[in-house]
Amino acid sequence: MAGSSVTVGNVEIVSLLDTAMEFDAGMFFPRNDSADFDPYKNQYPDAYGSDGKLRTYAHCYALRSAGKTVLVDTGIGPGPVAMLGGISGRLVQDMHTKGVQPESIDVVVFTHLHSDHVGWNLTPGNVPTFGKARYSVPQADWDFFTASDVAPQNPHIHASVLPLKELGVLDLFSGEKAITEELTTYPTPGHTPGHTSILVSSAGEKAIICGDIAHHPAQADRTEWCCGFDGDPPQAVASRQKVFDQLEADGLLAAISHFPDPGFGKLVRLEGKRVWQAL
Ligand SMILES: [Zn+2]
Repeated sequence: MAGSSVTVGNVEIVSLLDTAMEFDAGMFFPRNDSADFDPYKNQYPDAYGSDGKLRTYAHCYALRSAGKTVLVDTGIGPGPVAMLGGISGRLVQDMHTKGVQPESIDVVVFTHLHSDHVGWNLTPGNVPTFGKARYSVPQADWDFFTASDVAPQNPHIHASVLPLKELGVLDLFSGEKAITEELTTYPTPGHTPGHTSILVSSAGEKAIICGDIAHHPAQADRTEWCCGFDGDPPQAVASRQKVFDQLEADGLLAAISHFPDPGFGKLVRLEGKRVWQAL
């Protein structure tokens, strides 16, 4: 396994693992047959759990760039999370282990507003976990998830997202916006309306923090497969295809939240098929 930290030009990217999770393939990818995943098991053993389940991960990434520390996503949270079988995340513990202090975070950027990406925003009592940070949310996800017909079905929006506005620490962005002179937001909609990747470009090197552009390494080859959480499957496939083509053509480093720890790798062609080559 690769180390938890890589550098891209002058940017350091630290992979932070909140938790691993296991789901039945039929629940995770409801449009697939569970057997579709069998041929990939030898190639990606860490993406398979016990009893025929798929194993997935909730990563966050800390980026040190141009004097700022930027945290991408905040995991499932301290829990226990009932809908995930009562598990608890360990993001803050992992940050301490890897030398990224919560109080050093200047900006938290969200790839999207699903519950496994916003969990550590606040501590009990609605105190921001990252005390000096601004929290930056894609406008299209804010509009979608805070709508009166959607928010009631998403209790995490009330618990972890809406208070950010009341606390005065929320910023909304859309399109391509510079976070630092080396980091820019890159809209990759489909998984959610405002799903956003982060493009890292520094000293001639590039990487993409891909959020939930894919959920299992088999999708490197089968970009048309969609997990059940892809809100707009045709648009999710189009964004996945576009980003994966770009990663492969340019040989870029990718960080993909739900891929095996630490989620760093490249997309390369092997015997005519595109494969995920973990670092
Ligand atoms: Zn998601």
